[in-house]
Amino acid sequence: MAWFKKTRTPIAAAATVKASRVPEGLWVKCPGCSQIIYNKDLATNLNVCPKCAHHFRIGALERLRTLFDDGVWVEHDPGLASTDPLQFTDTRPYKERLAASKAATGLKDALIVVSGRIDGIPTIAAAMEYAFIGGSMGVVVGEKIARAIERALDERRPVVIICCSGGARMMEGALSLMQMAKICGALARLGRARLPYISVLTDPTTGGVTASFAMLGDLNIAEPKALIGFAGPRVIEQTIRQKLPEGFQRSEFLLEKGMIDLIVDRREMKAVVANALRFMGAREAEPPGPPPDLELVAAAPRAIGDAGSPKSRV
Ligand SMILES: [Zn+2]
Repeated sequence: MAWFKKTRTPIAAAATVKASRVPEGLWVKCPGCSQIIYNKDLATNLNVCPKCAHHFRIGALERLRTLFDDGVWVEHDPGLASTDPLQFTDTRPYKERLAASKAATGLKDALIVVSGRIDGIPTIAAAMEYAFIGGSMGVVVGEKIARAIERALDERRPVVIICCSGGARMMEGALSLMQMAKICGALARLGRARLPYISVLTDPTTGGVTASFAMLGDLNIAEPKALIGFAGPRVIEQTIRQKLPEGFQRSEFLLEKGMIDLIVDRREMKAVVANALRFMGAREAEPPGPPPDLELVAAAPRAIGDAGSPKSRV
């Protein structure tokens, strides 16, 4: 029996909640500083909170838009799609998950590979899309990255990969794990050809992606406060039976421990990447401004690369 009993009824909540006149989606609450930010302000600021510099997650296309000159690029291998090789079913059939992600993102898989110019430097870039099954790496992602690296070798171009992934795609089992080795092999060839590779780690970069190409950049650049790790903190705590330190697996912690090279604000990312590429020997295209319509022809990148390659090999 309780000692005290509440006899009076608690204060009732206001009977009617006034309907908000502001349409939904115009304002966003920043998880960093709890400020309310106008959506358009956030968009013009590359989805970085203007007050506390919290970096909101953005999609692969937006990513590429922040990097490439005038938002112009040529996409490669957009048609590659997974065939569900294991006929896998967990709580839902993998085929269904693929179809839902395709409908939601308009992509065939979790990666976009493009070539274009970053501050005048012809570059091949790949960006991962988290909205497509957690940006997971299956056969298609692996194949597209390997092809992107081979294209870079053919055309003597640097490679930039923007990582954003939950790791290898378990619905493709060992086949997805094999992509780690395949991409690493291709990157080794890129290294031997003395072509730069920059890895940009964004929130979150985990699992098989961290364990392979994300950490193999000549320069590994992370966004502030991004979650970067292999296994999640809970799994590690249970395994080693120790409490993990504050900020474990965040960019700042990893920079201090020497696991990454730089932390760069998204608003400065393009300039830093271009500078680093120049430092590593990447050059601007010979004619500084080719007619833009030339870039839209699908065969054009190969033609430009072939013309440029003998010179850069000297
Ligand atoms: Zn904020």
